[in-house]
Amino acid sequence: MKSDIEIAQEVEHTTMAPIDQIAAKMNLTADDLENYGKYKAKLTFEAIQEIKQRPQGKLVLVTSINPTPAGEGKSTVSVGLADALNRIGTKAVIALREPSLGPVMGMKGGATGGGKAQLIPMEDINLHFTGDMHALTTANDTLAALIDNHIQQGNELNIDPRRVTWKRVLDINDRSLRQVVTGLGGVTSGVPRQAGFDITVASELMAILCLAENITDLKKRIAKITIGYTYTKKPITVADLKVQGAITMLLRDALKPNLVQTLEKTPAFVHGGPFANIAHGCNSVLATKMALGLGDVAITEAGFGADLGGEKFMDIAAPNIGHTPDATVIVATIRALKYNGGVAVKDLTTENLAALEAGFGNLKKHIQNMKRYNVPVVVAINAFITDTPAEIKLLQKLCQDFGVAAINTEIWEKGSAGGEALAKAVNEALAQPADFQPLYDKTEPVTTKIEKIVQTIYGGKSVIFSAKAKKDLKTIAENDWNDLAICMAKTQYSLTDDQHVLGAPTDFSIHVREIIPKTGSGFLVVLTGNVLTMPGLPKKPAALNMDVDENGVISGLF
Ligand code: ADP
Repeated sequence: MKSDIEIAQEVEHTTMAPIDQIAAKMNLTADDLENYGKYKAKLTFEAIQEIKQRPQGKLVLVTSINPTPAGEGKSTVSVGLADALNRIGTKAVIALREPSLGPVMGMKGGATGGGKAQLIPMEDINLHFTGDMHALTTANDTLAALIDNHIQQGNELNIDPRRVTWKRVLDINDRSLRQVVTGLGGVTSGVPRQAGFDITVASELMAILCLAENITDLKKRIAKITIGYTYTKKPITVADLKVQGAITMLLRDALKPNLVQTLEKTPAFVHGGPFANIAHGCNSVLATKMALGLGDVAITEAGFGADLGGEKFMDIAAPNIGHTPDATVIVATIRALKYNGGVAVKDLTTENLAALEAGFGNLKKHIQNMKRYNVPVVVAINAFITDTPAEIKLLQKLCQDFGVAAINTEIWEKGSAGGEALAKAVNEALAQPADFQPLYDKTEPVTTKIEKIVQTIYGGKSVIFSAKAKKDLKTIAENDWNDLAICMAKTQYSLTDDQHVLGAPTDFSIHVREIIPKTGSGFLVVLTGNVLTMPGLPKKPAALNMDVDENGVISGLF
């Protein structure tokens, strides 16, 4: 069987279209593009402004069950669905996140889809792409340097070095940088303080880039970032440091959505990539708006499962896009449901109807949750070649009994030809009325908003706040931050905050460890369990398989 990169390279080396031809499919001209080589482009600010004024198409959100080691394939289905919609004559445009290098080096698993449903040029997108991640890393660390310099040069703002909350970032999974001491080396080398690194995609700048409307909005949000506190516990913002202009300047080009194509030449905006467990997990608002303005249907994806990315899309991203989903697709695999039903990874290729039925509970909970927003739901069964006809029939029946169509989708194996039935079902869902109902009102108390997410979406019983979290609630009240949205930071593997609890548990509590105000993004990050903001690499990192030859041809990147 060919690997993802081998399939991608066959097209890249033969029939990949120059990016202006992809843009022309959406009636854009060379003047609307800023080319990054032959196959990648950003849109100009003029084009972005003009496209925002156009009538919008319909919005499809692709989400999934809780991720498992068995694989779900959300990006694969997003890409394949868009290709299949175009195949049946519906003009679809994609808006997806750009990959972080951390997981690329860490685990096996692409971020550009897979099989015959991929984004290309996949090597570029998965590696340095158009430099957005580097711009974000640099902007984030420039701010960190400016904070430390302010403290060193007399500390006019009275910043307490022990209460600086702004961390440095790198787009690498590097656990040894989680806790560091900076400023060592005597009086000329800064004021020593305990600090730490997060992964770039956890930076508040990434979240802000993905929510900002334009440069002015970006600057306004950056100005509002809380970077730490004074000795008297007063919050300090970027505006206090007067550097919002410089930081925004570093992100000028990163704010422009990137255009690439699928293996089947469907236009795809790939832009912004906050993680869905520690941030809000959706591509940029601007990329989604471009897809809505240029396509009859825009396909976008929310990271991890519907409990994390899905909920955050509905309650954080959608209000910022100003367009709620017109249909939701939940991706599930028979393998992953059997895993939820208690089957070990090595046994997932054997038919097991009882385990499938037992594991269905996880999908059922996610269907229930997405239906709760009052948007039509379709289940996409991402078919693996090991699925048996009896298993597919059973899963379709279980979904049907629960009032949802489940479409077997063979896009990984066959490309758009394997996704026609899904495309038709999505068009039917889009023809139904959607009457979006948000989960909470931002003016409700913070604890109520968190409880609503825990009880309604996760199926839990209660929320337990640590002593630190209780102190944070006090700080939130004192600083008038109550009306911010909630961004839960939870393990992606379980509906609970314990990654080992599978299926659809009930009667559990969620443990809130800390609540971090992200005043530029407009949400409170609620850290639960032991979710990390700087991941580590596994024992056998994917990096071990990677190589590049004398001609620059890359291998082993999935
Ligand atoms: P997600 O978006 O849920 O993280 P991806 O779409 O990125 O998942 O897919 C992850 C990996 O799983 C990719 O390498 C892809 O090739 C593989 N994959 C996805 N769907 C299938 C399938 N139906 N059969 C075999 N492999 C698949």
